[in-house]
Amino acid sequence: MAEVHVRRCGDYQNVQGSVKSIFLPFKKLTFSGGTALVKPNLLKGAPPEKAVTTHPEFIIAVIRELEDAGMKVIVGDSPGGPSSKKFLKRCYEKSIWTRIPEETDAVLNYDLSYSHVPLPEGRVLKSVPVMNVCNDADLVVNLPKLKTHSLTVFTGAVKNTYGMVPGLMKSAFHGQYKGMKTFNRMLLDVHDAVSPDISIMDGIVGMEGKGPAGGDPVKLSIILASTDAPALDYMACKAVGIDTSKVPLFREVKLSDIDVVGELPSEVNVNYPEGGSTPWWLPETFGGVMANLYMKRPNLYADKCISCGECMRICPEDAIKMNQYPKISWWKCIRCYCCAEICPEDALEPR
Ligand code: SF4
Ligand code: SF4
Repeated sequence: MAEVHVRRCGDYQNVQGSVKSIFLPFKKLTFSGGTALVKPNLLKGAPPEKAVTTHPEFIIAVIRELEDAGMKVIVGDSPGGPSSKKFLKRCYEKSIWTRIPEETDAVLNYDLSYSHVPLPEGRVLKSVPVMNVCNDADLVVNLPKLKTHSLTVFTGAVKNTYGMVPGLMKSAFHGQYKGMKTFNRMLLDVHDAVSPDISIMDGIVGMEGKGPAGGDPVKLSIILASTDAPALDYMACKAVGIDTSKVPLFREVKLSDIDVVGELPSEVNVNYPEGGSTPWWLPETFGGVMANLYMKRPNLYADKCISCGECMRICPEDAIKMNQYPKISWWKCIRCYCCAEICPEDALEPR
């Protein structure tokens, strides 16, 4: 039986009390001491009010609980872009995570090394490249942001573990696993390799609409926590009115029975996209072709574009050519939306 704990919390100013209360049932996890990796969502550098990343106040509140329990804390993620210290520093700065080492004893991670974690029972991956900051931690504390997602409908605790796959390897996996079935199985394999000890979800202000980068911030006022990430995601969807039968992840995972501790909101209904590059009932081999027919390429707002070329560099299919502005090939594009996620100016929008 998986337990999912729920707390209401109206704003980040009062987050410490709510985090303390939701962390209490899991305190025994910290008894062995050692190093904790706190793994929030750093999809890209973005100010906290955009709700793209886990809010720094939320991260700091969790770190304080871990430090009170005697743990040494490292905060780390691999954003969707090049694996470089310079890029990482820029993401930390733009997301105001630079407050973290100023206000706690925690350090921001700059170790970009990784190792392959063997996964002989994996659904599609038999070994997973995982950052060493995660492999070396005694405790992995996953801090996802509650967001909708143009490809996977919802992104939460399971998908947040994908950030432990280094840099551009993430977009390469998009190219390798084009269909929704294999893509979500791959995500579950990554989750198993990362194996978070606990997930605590920042749903105080989440994202609705065309997430995970260009959607709209929405006040949800909830925090959810569990040692079972798929169960947590399932209850998070229930909490915000997302039809779980529309979320491809839940077609690929056998959920445990779930005991909800606390009260789920009943009045919240977020806007969420249809998602999926391929209708789930089609054979995977049709993946790329059907994506072209069913889904549109990202839309470019040229007035916002600064011609930085980040979208071209992240594209796993080499579908973007730069000619002052990006031009997307209709037939090469697999509608993974990595380009829209990474664009620093929100100039590309999933359609
Ligand atoms: S669309 Fe975005 S990522 Fe691409 S070149 Fe323009 S600003 Fe850069
Ligand atoms: S153009 Fe964008 S959506 Fe299309 S394959 Fe490349 S990164 Fe993915």
